[in-house]
Amino acid sequence: KMASREFKRDNSVVSVRGVKIGGNRVSVIAGPCAVESLEQMMESAARVAESGAVMLRGGAYKPRTSPYAFQGMAEEGVKILREAGDAYGLPVVTEIVSSEHIPAMIDYVDVYQIGARNMQNFELLKKVGALGRPVILKRGLSATIEEWLMAAEYLLASGTEDVILCERGIRTYEKATRNTLDLSAIPVLRSLTHLPIIVDPSHAVGVRDKVPPMGLAAVAAGADGLIVEVHPCPECALSDGAQSLYPAQFEKMMRDIEVLAPVV
Ligand code: PEP
Ligand code: MN
Repeated sequence: KMASREFKRDNSVVSVRGVKIGGNRVSVIAGPCAVESLEQMMESAARVAESGAVMLRGGAYKPRTSPYAFQGMAEEGVKILREAGDAYGLPVVTEIVSSEHIPAMIDYVDVYQIGARNMQNFELLKKVGALGRPVILKRGLSATIEEWLMAAEYLLASGTEDVILCERGIRTYEKATRNTLDLSAIPVLRSLTHLPIIVDPSHAVGVRDKVPPMGLAAVAAGADGLIVEVHPCPECALSDGAQSLYPAQFEKMMRDIEVLAPVV
């Protein structure tokens, strides 16, 4: 299998417009859950860039649990994300929920995110893989590592070489946190696959003050990077405000990570 260690011995490094994920560095992607306005994205990009983030995140097509919740700014959001990323020299990451949106995204997006809810949407995986662009594949809500690696296989078999795996917490019986971060997935994956491994502590814990300790733990366990939700005004956020870091908290987490590993 193409994702396996047997297929490729050395760890893969994904390069996105000069930014590398994988190898001997810790790469941090940050930004709000959702794109809400140009001002919000400009402020977010400025703050995460000054703290050392190397890519900007922001959802434009949001897979919300409730159909009555904010669904994202769609095409306009993708353009705003690009504008903010360009203003601060950050490549951009955003979620794709349907292959219908490829025409609206293709000219603006550097890295496509496949969300937890779509990890086993095989038709989507085939279409996104065929773009030949970098993809962050999040672990499904209740997916085993084996199922997750088979989903990565769909992307690789369809034509992209650049797949980044993202552990974002799994469903357990515990309710104190939104999900349970499976930290052991990091060393388990490291022996099974050559693909870069990042961790999303924000969706894993769902509670702002629990995010930095789990981000640090992920780096200590060998993650190649993090993807973290940061909002200039978390209490104003249209989605996931409770788990979004204040820019000052993000800055502190980044300085703490540097003690463990070089942040590039
Ligand atoms: C997100 O990154 O905003 C998101 C919806 O993540 P997940 O698919 O991991 O729930
Ligand atoms: Mn979110």
